[in-house]
Amino acid sequence: MQLLLIAGHGAGDPGAVSGVFQEAVETRRVVGALVRLLKGYCDVTQYPPVRNAFSDFRTGQLNKQVPLPDFDFVLEIHFNASAAGPKDGKTKGVEIFVPTSAAETAAEEQICRAVAAVGLTNRGLKRYNWAVINAAHRAGVRSALLEVCFIDDPDDMLVYTTKFDAVTQAIANAIITQFSLKKEEKPVTYEEFAAFMDRYLTNRAKLAPSAWSNEARAWAEKANIVQGGSDGEKKYQSFVTREELVQMLFRTK
Ligand SMILES: [Zn+2]
Repeated sequence: MQLLLIAGHGAGDPGAVSGVFQEAVETRRVVGALVRLLKGYCDVTQYPPVRNAFSDFRTGQLNKQVPLPDFDFVLEIHFNASAAGPKDGKTKGVEIFVPTSAAETAAEEQICRAVAAVGLTNRGLKRYNWAVINAAHRAGVRSALLEVCFIDDPDDMLVYTTKFDAVTQAIANAIITQFSLKKEEKPVTYEEFAAFMDRYLTNRAKLAPSAWSNEARAWAEKANIVQGGSDGEKKYQSFVTREELVQMLFRTK
């Protein structure tokens, strides 16, 4: 699967700001974590963090930065705002937007549920043609915009900051299960295999011979049939090449 992750705002637009928190900083932090968590499960592309995807959409640069039709799923990360209030012990919550005519929404709903399960109110799935996800949708690509939580709600931000790993893992896990992603096993290269074999053979050669071959070994050594390697080691638990075999047979002549 080709996944495009977009961190909302940036390039001079901080997004929503509340206290020490800037939306553009937090969206990049979430996307950075998701890139690490999903690596190996799918091809993850991160929209250039120095750019603002919304500005790029407005100036016609979006498709020049990333070829939208190449992706299977576009996820844009944002933080909500405007529900500011005193710390009231209640979280305002997480919500996810899909384009108004999006057909399948099970994965999006699960992303939202998974984040909510960490400790945020589930505001659920909503439909709105936000510029960037709608551009993806019109390019035939499934897309969603996740509002992780309310940046200006102290209760939300306490959950987000103290359970950041759980929040990002929840998003990643929802994507992994909903899109049936499997961690790709990296194929072993010839060089790696050769290095493993060298180590295996070196370790085998160090193993002590077993008692059952005592008599045979004593005979073979006395008759000079087995002489050992250049280091004098007999390496009884290692393998014999055809060359070594005929050499030993030759010595019995
Ligand atoms: Zn935003």
